[in-house]
Amino acid sequence: MDSRNTTPRTGSTVTVACATAFFLLVGVTLTGLMMNVVTTMVASADRIDNARAERAAHSVVTALEGRLAAVTGDNSVWDDAYAASVGDDPVGWAFTNWAKTSADYPLYDGVVVADPTGRIYSSYMKGLVFDPVTVFGPSFQKQIQAALLGGREPTVQFFAAGGKLFLIASNAIQPYAEPVGLPKPRHVLTFLKELTPAVLDAQATPYDLNGLRVATAAEHTELAIDLLSIDGNPLGRLAWEEKHPGSELYHVVRPKLIVALAILLVFLIGILVSGATETRRLKALAQTARHEAAHDGLTGLLNRSGLLQEMGRVQNLRVDDGSLTLHLIDLDGFKAVNDSWGHAVGDELIKQVAHAFSNLSPAVDAVARLGGDEFALVQRGHLSTVIDKAVLAIFRTPFVIGGRTIEVGASLGTASATAIIEPLEILRRADMALYRAKEDGRGRVVHYDPSLDVEREQLSLLEADLRLAITNGDITPVFQPLVSARDGRVRGVEALARWQAPTGNVSPETFIPLAERSGLIDALGALMLSASIIHAKRWKDLYLSVNVSPLQLCNPDFPKTVLSIVERESFDPHRLTLEITEGVLIANPDQARRAIESLKRVGVRFALDDFGCGYASIGALRTFGFDRVKIDRSLVTALGEKSNGKDVLEATVLLATALNIPVTAEGIESTDQANILRAAGCDQLQGYLHGKPMRGEDIDALLDRHLPTRPETRSGHDAVAVGKRRPAHRNGTS
Ligand code: C2E
Ligand code: CA
Ligand code: CA
Repeated sequence: MDSRNTTPRTGSTVTVACATAFFLLVGVTLTGLMMNVVTTMVASADRIDNARAERAAHSVVTALEGRLAAVTGDNSVWDDAYAASVGDDPVGWAFTNWAKTSADYPLYDGVVVADPTGRIYSSYMKGLVFDPVTVFGPSFQKQIQAALLGGREPTVQFFAAGGKLFLIASNAIQPYAEPVGLPKPRHVLTFLKELTPAVLDAQATPYDLNGLRVATAAEHTELAIDLLSIDGNPLGRLAWEEKHPGSELYHVVRPKLIVALAILLVFLIGILVSGATETRRLKALAQTARHEAAHDGLTGLLNRSGLLQEMGRVQNLRVDDGSLTLHLIDLDGFKAVNDSWGHAVGDELIKQVAHAFSNLSPAVDAVARLGGDEFALVQRGHLSTVIDKAVLAIFRTPFVIGGRTIEVGASLGTASATAIIEPLEILRRADMALYRAKEDGRGRVVHYDPSLDVEREQLSLLEADLRLAITNGDITPVFQPLVSARDGRVRGVEALARWQAPTGNVSPETFIPLAERSGLIDALGALMLSASIIHAKRWKDLYLSVNVSPLQLCNPDFPKTVLSIVERESFDPHRLTLEITEGVLIANPDQARRAIESLKRVGVRFALDDFGCGYASIGALRTFGFDRVKIDRSLVTALGEKSNGKDVLEATVLLATALNIPVTAEGIESTDQANILRAAGCDQLQGYLHGKPMRGEDIDALLDRHLPTRPETRSGHDAVAVGKRRPAHRNGTS
């Protein structure tokens, strides 16, 4: 997997998760804060009201005390009452004025009158006689004593009796006008008022106190004030009901609050769900991206980076010391399939091959497609040739696509290594082996060997030398005579490249492909063309044939280059023949046609080289308008080797002559071969028999030798006869 592709997506997943968590946190915090505000408001409203109620309760007590004290004061500080108390019938007076009314008087429920010694002589409750000491206990006497000692203000105290609570006010009976501190005897008037629920309720209502009542000291309620006896002991409590204004308010707003919370909840759930969905979507995207980064779109197999990952994984399994074998496969002839049937068929072929590889053998751990028609198989452990054999077997039967039968082959390069070798290096090694397999001819398996690296190294050194040689013009032409089949006269020469490298002579079979691979072929071709023309200008009667690589022909600038050289050297283009091989006609027919046509227009001729060894169609021969065909040397050599060699050769020559294209036979080494070819219809011969490739100066010498006897000409060109037993020429190849 390419981590660059997936990191941003992983990042977005984290971002979305973080954003969702953040929103949730904010939502939950806001909800918490809101709930806290509400409960705080409710609680403090209740608390404030409770404080107010407590102050109100105290006010109620003060008001009750004040009222009873006022009544007691009015009745005790009274001249008539005082006079009666020290008169003859205080008992009767007390009864008439106070005791009688106690039965139904709203201001007090009972009255007690005592003489200056504290002896009670009149005591009534609700109009009936009663004994206050029995009812209220001995502390009642204390109340009377306190009143005897006091001045004009009544003593007010709480008393309890029989579960009831009373407020009792006592004061000395005294004349209104009497100054304070006059001599006694004093009588004491005491009024009693029971704190009944009705009394409390009437008093509490204006203070907005609910359910004010008397509670026992033991009763547990927080909303109460303590009432103390005259001795300072708890008597009971005045309790009331809590109003809960905050809670009431809360009940009012609660539906709205619930709606708000529900909306918030829906919002949060929405965020959670969309966050989760988005996270899931991003995860899926990341997974797809990871998959795409490691796989080939057409076949679904691993791609190059997926292969390297998989190799690393297999190595980590440490089976057989983590050793691993990589089989690289390149299809032979796939380009031709694409070119002739179209890319749809090519793609289908690739898919079928991929399918076949996927089901090849259980020993194959992974299958990858590395590019156009290159595949790789990963195999755990040391090299197993079974896999290579199985691969080659796949290509023995043709593929059938859309009713077409398509034949392709495969070349294999394999490399095995233990886990200490990086996957990339194993891939490089297998690639080297594959390269070699293709070089050596298709349908082969080559296993990597360190010598391949040495060769590659030598090749790259050679490439550097070649570059220098081209720049310095160290590649020079030698010329091989092309002679007339009829009379043996030299009609032209073929220029062949020679390179005397620092390491020794290098064959064109080596340095031409090297120049093609390293992009030097255009420069080399131009060098050869101009160097050959410089020589050929001296040989006014001869044609000049120059070899052209298919790659040169595919360069759109090729015709321009040729013309500029021809013009620069003032060479007659009609004397120039360019020899091309048929590969280019198949690989890049349109480009080839354009180049051929534009050069033919100025008189340059074209010969199809190596005819008979490839697969050029008769159609191609015709449409490209070749001026000459050169029968491949292998057909001439086969004359003596294969029984039907002669037939094949004759048929090939016949084919060309039927199309009205003159034929040259090359590689002729014997008179027999020359005779057969002449008989078959070849009008031009080339080979060691008629002359090996030689230096330009040797051609000069050859022409000079034959000048006096220059024979008849054809096509306006003179020819030079080459003797069959001529002195040995310098051979450019040796
Ligand atoms: P080719 O164009 O088919 O050239 C003919 C080859 O056959 C030459 O090999 C020549 O020396 C050899 N030959 C000619 N007569 C005989 C014979 O009687 N017996 C034997 N055994 N061989 C004979 P050479 O010079 O080694 O060239 C090999 C190939 O390299 C050429 O094949 C051509 O394809 C390529 N080549 C040579 N020079 C150039 C060049 O300047 N440009 C390009 N593009 N290719 C060139
Ligand atoms: Ca040639
Ligand atoms: Ca040839």
